[in-house]
Amino acid sequence: MKKETQIVSLGRQKKWTQGVINPPVVRASTMTFDTMEDMAFAIKNRANGEMFYGRRGGPTHFAFQSAIAELEGGVGTALYPSGSAAITGALLSFLKAGDHLLMVDSVYEPTRDLCNKLLAGYGIETTYYDPLIGKDLTSLIKPNTKVLFLESPGSITMEIQDVPTLSRIAHERDIVVMLDNTWASPINSRPFELGVDISIQAATKYIVGHSDVMMGTATANEQHWQQLRENSYLLGQCTSPDDVYLASRGLRTLGIRMAQHEQSALKVANWLAARPEVDHLRHPAFETCPGHEFFKRDFSAANGLFSFVLKEGDRASITAFVENMQHFKMGFSWGGFESLILGVFGIDKLRTSTQWDSSKPLIRLHIGLENVDDLINDLDAAFARYHAVLNKSVP
Ligand SMILES: *Cc1c(COP(=O)(O)O)cnc(C)c1O
Repeated sequence: MKKETQIVSLGRQKKWTQGVINPPVVRASTMTFDTMEDMAFAIKNRANGEMFYGRRGGPTHFAFQSAIAELEGGVGTALYPSGSAAITGALLSFLKAGDHLLMVDSVYEPTRDLCNKLLAGYGIETTYYDPLIGKDLTSLIKPNTKVLFLESPGSITMEIQDVPTLSRIAHERDIVVMLDNTWASPINSRPFELGVDISIQAATKYIVGHSDVMMGTATANEQHWQQLRENSYLLGQCTSPDDVYLASRGLRTLGIRMAQHEQSALKVANWLAARPEVDHLRHPAFETCPGHEFFKRDFSAANGLFSFVLKEGDRASITAFVENMQHFKMGFSWGGFESLILGVFGIDKLRTSTQWDSSKPLIRLHIGLENVDDLINDLDAAFARYHAVLNKSVP
């Protein structure tokens, strides 16, 4: 069965939906029990989809958790109030003082901040590695290395990682492999078949899909599920059933939205590739994207998010480009139905084991569900504004 077909029915067991189509919102803190025996049963099965206490979730949560676990290809999914909380929750479930973490250099900026500002203070040491390191990862492994964290493609610069090779090296030393799989969403890759132990989604992005809910998921394989679930529970992580309802509603249209995002983004990307101002595209489906061969091997499709690098431009000309767009809005959290644009500066300061040439400006786009020709016209006008300022800045 294809994933587009699966997402229509996943999680819709009658015990959770009572027969209506989408699992309804069940708001609850406490559960009451009629007998000691009922209570003992709930305690015993509190981790297996029996309602026990609000923090462990109710039918709305169980339905969504089961859908995500199955789509990702794991055995269980923990829910968090944001994608960042899912990353923190997964890392803290498997790391303790004295441990060493291998973190990809192209990671989402708040994840880097977590390592440098919080985990360091807890006695957890982080080493950043080149996303394209491949077999040389071996040289960075220490006796106390406990987690290998991947994000593929990387944030902003979009390097794609060789997940199977890196996972194999990690597993030879019993290192837990975690992947921030947000770009692929749960439908465009098969993280567990590639060797990942825990796959993380900022559900805020494509799963919710409508820019109105923050949520994160971490899905584990059999070997790591108990530890992830129990430790995330101990961290007090839980989500509102209203938010979960919206995420589960968004999920139903993920397949069709992703296909449209991909198709429109490819059209925009091809148009950009032919522009003389563009140095190269950082779109996984293009050969100019580092790690493109792993995209072809490991992903079934792309989406609406990519970056491009211009041959020249300063802050003033990039500002002229990104301001006053008609359809693209300036904003960070992609994955909704709307198009977004970002002129990104200072990338070199966010990379410590690799080099980034900041003399060439980078623009990141999220291609939404607007008509793609309107978006291209919007970008065409942006190039005109950019040239007007660029010509002025050149003496
Ligand atoms: C947005 C994002 C996150 C964080 O998700 P939030 O829900 O905003 O906390 C994590 N990883 C990636 C790759 C993201 O794009």
